[in-house]
Amino acid sequence: MLKRLILGTLALACAMYATSEVNVYSTRHYDTDKKLFKMFEEKTGIKVNVVKAKASALINRIENEGKKSPADILITADAARLYKAKSEGLFQSIKSDILIKNIPAELRDEDNQWFGLTKRSRVAVYKIGSGMEKELSTYEDLANPKFKGTIMVRSSNNEYNQSLLAAIIAHHGEEYALKWAKGIVANMAMEPKGNDRYQVKSVANGIGKIAIANTYYVGKMVDNKDKSQAEAVKKVKIFFPKFENGGTHINISGGGVVKTAPNKENAIKFLEYMASAEAQELFAQGNFEYPVLKGVKTSDLVSSWGSFEEDKISINTLGKNNAQAVKIFDLAGWK
Ligand code: FE
Repeated sequence: MLKRLILGTLALACAMYATSEVNVYSTRHYDTDKKLFKMFEEKTGIKVNVVKAKASALINRIENEGKKSPADILITADAARLYKAKSEGLFQSIKSDILIKNIPAELRDEDNQWFGLTKRSRVAVYKIGSGMEKELSTYEDLANPKFKGTIMVRSSNNEYNQSLLAAIIAHHGEEYALKWAKGIVANMAMEPKGNDRYQVKSVANGIGKIAIANTYYVGKMVDNKDKSQAEAVKKVKIFFPKFENGGTHINISGGGVVKTAPNKENAIKFLEYMASAEAQELFAQGNFEYPVLKGVKTSDLVSSWGSFEEDKISINTLGKNNAQAVKIFDLAGWK
């Protein structure tokens, strides 16, 4: 009996040892990722276990779990959250020729603690036939009183908005940023509510005239099973605003290896796969994001929106200015 128990325990221990896995904490909430993880599993035999939550919750969780945290990878959908995770000492530096080769230097951390895996731009969406394309120009001009009662944008606790305001701070300083945020609040069609898709739907339905949204959401609404999204998106078009002295606002979704990662080698393999041509293509085709790997094309739909010049402020600035952005949103009364 005892012998059997010992043997049984041994077999279990061996089985556990043989199970190769990687634990991914991710804030990304897109169906393509499920497919990607599956492709990675098939390719490597490494099982992907996913914990999904908001960035702040995942960061807290890793901190609370401490040395025993099962987390190998933290993925966020915003640059400022990667910056925050690094400043709180959650990541470790990674040596990977593949990541360095595939990801441009400006889209990864200088100590190689986090890596941008996709790009997204935050743009203006207007209703076809509204004439708004003649009115729209820069991000700065969205605060112009001529747009009073027209702007649909989500709440200021959203990370995409915080990074947009962080970029405004980088371009013009805090004082200007406060004036700008107040201008946007004064121009809102209604009090902030809902997600990016809600803003686009509202504009299509005649509530407000300009929605501020990330590009890929427009792509995800096309042919959506939810008819209200698929119908709404037919009525709108994307406009790429620029900063007065720059290009169109870019944010990244990316990830890093957690300092205490129990499966570090698998975690590096995971990130390398995410930066591979196969994965980059799926990010582009399946989720309408802009790939970071050179040579991988955007989807036909995304290409049809036209090209734009990317803003050149460093991705780190979005993280550095995040706290000020949050403060300014509060002062401006942006709910
Ligand atoms: Fe998103």
